Amino acid sequence: MSGSAESALVFNQIPHPAPVPGASRDQALADPGFGTIFSDHMVSVEWSEGKGWHDAVVGPRQPIALDPATAVLHYAQEIFEGLKAYKLTDGSMALFRPEENARRFNQSARRLAMPEMPEDMFVEAVRQLVLVDKDWFPSVEGGSLYLRPFMFASEPFLGVRPAKQYKFLVIASPAGNYFKSGVPAVSIWVSSDYTRAAPGGTGAAKCGGNYAASLVPQAEAIERGHDQVVFLDAAEHKWIEELGGMNLFFVMNDGTLITPPLSGTILPGITRDSLLTLAREEELTVREERYSIDQWRDDAASGKLLETFACGTAAVVTPVGHVAGHDGEFTIGSGGPGQLTSKLREKLVGIQRGTAADQHGWVTKIA
Ligand SMILES: *Cc1c(COP(=O)(O)O)cnc(C)c1O
Repeated sequence: MSGSAESALVFNQIPHPAPVPGASRDQALADPGFGTIFSDHMVSVEWSEGKGWHDAVVGPRQPIALDPATAVLHYAQEIFEGLKAYKLTDGSMALFRPEENARRFNQSARRLAMPEMPEDMFVEAVRQLVLVDKDWFPSVEGGSLYLRPFMFASEPFLGVRPAKQYKFLVIASPAGNYFKSGVPAVSIWVSSDYTRAAPGGTGAAKCGGNYAASLVPQAEAIERGHDQVVFLDAAEHKWIEELGGMNLFFVMNDGTLITPPLSGTILPGITRDSLLTLAREEELTVREERYSIDQWRDDAASGKLLETFACGTAAVVTPVGHVAGHDGEFTIGSGGPGQLTSKLREKLVGIQRGTAADQHGWVTKIA
């Protein structure tokens, strides 16, 4: 399915014949929000059985016509990634650990019975899009260009089996500073009626289906006045897993940092991995181990737990201030952002934006 010949695939360049006029683009870039504005171009690459990856194009962003029988519309054979391109202080553009997204994309592909893409082809596709749409970086402080690579079964066929035809696309969306005025702590709802992933399921794969299943519990959290839902494990309804799209960390008063282990039911976040590395460098004791909802409540009450935060590419690090569920509610620390949460966040953001030294080779400059 993969090979060095394929990774040398040439991306055909088709400039947009009528890109968004500069004035409208600049207006959109002044306050882009998240996920509603898109750049002029997209990358597309086709895969079919026997032929492998072919027809790589960097062309105008446009609607795609699908046969009503297209497999993804019926059986949800789809995976995606999310990463950001940053403008560094020296004016250059960079991606944060894009090879990790490429690796995870292939892990997701294997779980969803989809073809793998050579990692360098994945990174090149993302790089090409950033280069062609380099005028789409938000002008706002703390802005970035969010990149969404994804792949779906494009074969028109209603039988249930892995498709023989796939489409890989990358689109770009300018993203504002998630938190313009400081980082507010979020309130989260513990779902006891729904779970996100079960052992042996697709919890560790970044697939659209996981998100579809999380919408009702997420809506329930909003309805009850909270920002996010936190899921417990499917077997015992006891162990904390993650939010719908962010991993969780717990800061203890003895300098220990706890995060749920990658047991197959949570998504292996790249932000999670980066923070684990940074925390070890801060000489914190890092433990990837199960942490229960009861322990969380008890530790928050006794003061053993100082802070809790969620992390992911979109918002980077978000403090959790308040937790509620059917068994009652509790506040973490003062209910606002904690010291270590802020410190780790600043450290990571500094590396991502090029204001702090990149000692791990995480920042990939786009020439
Ligand atoms: C993408 C995602 C995360 C965060 O991963 P990052 O690589 O840090 O962005 C966490 N949980 C879920 C369910 C996700 O889909």
